[in-house]
Amino acid sequence: MKHIPRRRFGQNFLIDHGIIAAIVNVIAPQRGDAVVEIGPGLGALTEPLLARLDHLHVVEIDRDLIARLKKQYPPERLSIHEGDALACDFAAIGGNLRLVGNLPYNISTPLLFHLADYGDHIRDMHFMLQKEVVERMVAVPGDGDFGRLSVMLQYRFHLEWLLDVPPESFDPPPKVQSAVVRLIPRAATDLTAKNPARFARLVQTAFAQRRKMLRNTLKGVLDETGFNALGIDPTLRPEDLAVEDYVRIANSLGD
Ligand code: SAM
Repeated sequence: MKHIPRRRFGQNFLIDHGIIAAIVNVIAPQRGDAVVEIGPGLGALTEPLLARLDHLHVVEIDRDLIARLKKQYPPERLSIHEGDALACDFAAIGGNLRLVGNLPYNISTPLLFHLADYGDHIRDMHFMLQKEVVERMVAVPGDGDFGRLSVMLQYRFHLEWLLDVPPESFDPPPKVQSAVVRLIPRAATDLTAKNPARFARLVQTAFAQRRKMLRNTLKGVLDETGFNALGIDPTLRPEDLAVEDYVRIANSLGD
């Protein structure tokens, strides 16, 4: 029976075999890898991934699609985690995970923030996203696109833009351009916030009013003496600071 794509689940299924092969090639799965596919859908990526793997985990929310997958693959090849990827405890699936997916665009930003917390359990991630989201992820200080998403992801991951994908590669075609990006957790370095929750709050506060000077947005967090001690100009705007600067500010606020 034909599946009618559900807009509320961001269902745009990949149909371009050249693009599907290119995505699987950049992932380069090896037989024993612990791969988790988010949103397998009708299996466009699931099938070629399983051809190269002993076993695959998938996280899917749509019950009709889950029923299809259960019919198609035995549990020893495919573990199906039914439900919302936003609520999924990826640590419970295992360690050294390789996450992949043509992500539902309506939840991609909150999902990336959710996944940022699982850095210790992740080997790498390869995702298809709206191109505009990838632009924000890889933006550098001074870019108009540089924001909370860029800082929070670049703090935890090395990001690499891999390929662009046009709307015709999907059915139904989305209204936007897409791109595939790779994220690899950074090794613990000097770029480490002593208190990750404080760091996250600071970045959120700074970018809540991105047109304002830091002196104003960070009022009550960092005073003139604090800015001077760190050698940071308080008249800059949040998009002018590097990820390292946010870590330095957070660390100057105590443990
Ligand atoms: N991987 C397939 C492909 O490339 O053709 C489908 C991609 S489609 C863009 C997104 C998939 O994610 C759909 O299968 C959809 O049902 C699923 N999905 C949507 N929201 C989800 C959520 N919150 N948690 C898990 N899966 C979700």
